[in-house]
Amino acid sequence: MIPRAEARRAVNGKTGTAAAPIRIYGDPVLRRRADPVEAIDGELEAVIESLLASMAQARGLGLAAPQIGCSRQLCAVNLPALDERRQRPLVLINPVVETLDGSATQEEGCLSFPQLYAEVARPQRIGIRGLDRRGKEIEIEAQDMMARVFLHEADHLNGVLFIDHLSLIKRQLLRKQLKELSRRAAPGAGD
Ligand code: ZN
Repeated sequence: MIPRAEARRAVNGKTGTAAAPIRIYGDPVLRRRADPVEAIDGELEAVIESLLASMAQARGLGLAAPQIGCSRQLCAVNLPALDERRQRPLVLINPVVETLDGSATQEEGCLSFPQLYAEVARPQRIGIRGLDRRGKEIEIEAQDMMARVFLHEADHLNGVLFIDHLSLIKRQLLRKQLKELSRRAAPGAGD
């Protein structure tokens, strides 16, 4: 997920680490339900590094593994950008949303939908649990923007995209932009 202001500041420069290209709406991997992670091995570590590098390069608030083409239950949340007391991004494996409370509407964007923003209603407070990158069970309570980012990334792992939360009429209004994006995702795939 990405807020509009960050997207404006995002650079295409290099970070020195292996950032992967971010999959754009229309890429079928974004609609797949991701497979659970069964082992934290060297291969997964490499995906985690790539996920973190890609999130940093794109200045995202969060990024889910399917967005870099890996259909696994794995996402990263840029905690330092959301809470100044946090110093490292959080890697969350096999996340499960446990509690939902309240409701808030705020503008959201997604790195897989460049230049597209929409107001999305989501629960205001959540509890979410999963494993950290070392396989330790963690439980997080979050609210407001942080809750929104966790929910947005957890959705990605179920093949759900932020536009799915919009009313039919709002989606209809975005139809042209969405069509344009899927054309970019699959160049040469006809019109
Ligand atoms: Zn997203």
